[in-house]
Amino acid sequence: MEQITTDILVIGSGLAGFLSAFEAEKAGLRVLMVGKFAIGMGTNTSLANGAFTVSNSTFSKEDHLQATQESGKGLNQGRLINLLIQKGPEAMERLRGDGVPLLERGIGCIIDRPDDSSQLPGVLLIRPLIEKVKKSSIRVLPGLTIFDLLVEEGEVQGAFGFLRNGIPCLIRSRTVLLSTGGAGAVYSRNDNQRSILGDGYALALRAGLPLFDLEFVQFYPFVLGEPHLSSFLLYPPYPKEVRLFNDKGEDLLERFGLRGDLNRAIIVKRDRLSIDLYSMTRNGDVFFDLTQVPQEKWERYPLNFLKKSKFPFRERPFLISPAVHFFMGGVEIDEEGATSLPGLFAAGEVTWGIHGANRLGGNALTECAVFGILSGQSAARYVHKLEQEQGPFPPFSENLLKKWDRKVRSYLRKRRGAFEPPKDMLKDLKDLAWRYASPVREEESLKEGLDRLASIEKKIEKVYPATLKDLFKKRDLENVSLLLKAILKGSLLRAESRGSFFRKDFPDQDDTHWLKNTCYRLEKGELQITHRPIK
Ligand SMILES: Cc1cc2nc3c(=O)[nH]c(=O)nc-3n(C[C@H](O)[C@H](O)[C@H](O)COP(=O)(O)OP(=O)(O)OC[C@H]3O[C@@H](n4cnc5c(N)ncnc54)[C@H](O)[C@@H]3O)c2cc1C
Repeated sequence: MEQITTDILVIGSGLAGFLSAFEAEKAGLRVLMVGKFAIGMGTNTSLANGAFTVSNSTFSKEDHLQATQESGKGLNQGRLINLLIQKGPEAMERLRGDGVPLLERGIGCIIDRPDDSSQLPGVLLIRPLIEKVKKSSIRVLPGLTIFDLLVEEGEVQGAFGFLRNGIPCLIRSRTVLLSTGGAGAVYSRNDNQRSILGDGYALALRAGLPLFDLEFVQFYPFVLGEPHLSSFLLYPPYPKEVRLFNDKGEDLLERFGLRGDLNRAIIVKRDRLSIDLYSMTRNGDVFFDLTQVPQEKWERYPLNFLKKSKFPFRERPFLISPAVHFFMGGVEIDEEGATSLPGLFAAGEVTWGIHGANRLGGNALTECAVFGILSGQSAARYVHKLEQEQGPFPPFSENLLKKWDRKVRSYLRKRRGAFEPPKDMLKDLKDLAWRYASPVREEESLKEGLDRLASIEKKIEKVYPATLKDLFKKRDLENVSLLLKAILKGSLLRAESRGSFFRKDFPDQDDTHWLKNTCYRLEKGELQITHRPIK
């Protein structure tokens, strides 16, 4: 087993992970950064459209506060929003200093790019950060999937995972920073990277931390729906020549009142549109048509990005669907980015609190920047304090090594059992998510979803991984089914509609009974759900 000792372990190499790693390095810590793939790759950050919402010369801090609160419908945490708003402009300066090309535009900043560049803004955002890591003392371990947090005597002291080549890795670290992103890929229809399966949520739950508001999932209406092609987001802005119609030929821009400025409508009516399109796509096809768009517009972003594909986007209408975009729920942090488990900090989409019942567009990247910086600084202070109080970090103890040797053997134990190829089971889970934890939820179907999930869970228990590949797949199955159970159960309990959350049988927001955050815990392997009234 590979053994590594460090001061801070940063799990995840998206925007939040990079910025916290830079801060910790600046404070003199030994930093280890890990991700499932090459550093910076396989992240939602690299897919982002590059919009940061932050106050500027035409959009005041008060405007930002108001817009964020309006989206959150009373469920956001004021203390965290204040930090986001106050520290947003400073974080943009910091990113510029790291070489990220940012331009003031609209209600914040966007990635500055040559008009004819067909690179995704997310790629332009992450590239300078990757370059900076290469020149730093930050140690990187790409292709390491973390399976467990190391919790000893009520403190997080590192993590355990497997490298892609199967080598188990035990990392002892004074502090751990969780920046594993969200969980969009637990749904069959999503615009996220395929590996964004909510590992961070499962790691936190298993380590005894509560999670909040997992039932709040944000959907985006226009994602490629063609079979056998990855379901990526159709990036705005949309040209005025775009047409949207169903298999009866009905003009949907007309029907949904989207004629005129579709780019404005997509901000204001995003959730309603996702709901309407979800219902429509369950019974038929919906098409996006770009064939009328003049040639010169195909030379500019975002159409020049589509033009690079072999798929004939210019020649024929194509299928689209709404899809999962963002998770509002997650791990609770304080104003320092600390969780309630000593030694564990968190930043980025894995955390909860800023967005409430719905995220204001552009607030996710700003959140990653502000809280990435802040949690890296706090983690460094935490380590320095421990050093002063306890002296140098002791080496791995024999007991710890023995304990984890046993655990590795239990992970790899071969046993006979009913076996179904794990790939199909993951597909079943993702389809179940899309069918039952969809933009439109109701009691009967949520209960049916939970029943079906229970039968898949029984099958998962009987998957005994014979190979390392199976082991990774089994871990994905366990994480995804745990998260789905939480979403379905949490949705069943919330008898109202709010923000991105829509119950067909309770279509109205109910402030009398439901101005509450949902709290999820794992106790003795059982998921417990309670509600916490807003203070
Ligand atoms: C298509 C798209 C466009 C978007 N556009 C915008 C936008 O314009 N503006 C905006 O504000 N927001 C946007 N968002 C949302 C925003 O991009 C994300 O919320 C944000 O990038 C998340 O960053 P992160 O650092 O938290 O995680 P990510 O960038 O998703 O990175 C997660 C990291 O964690 C690693 N990881 C996960 N599990 C494990 C594990 N078990 N072991 C080891 N490593 C692990 C992954 O490998 C990865 O390195 C967009 C999202 C999408 C999908």
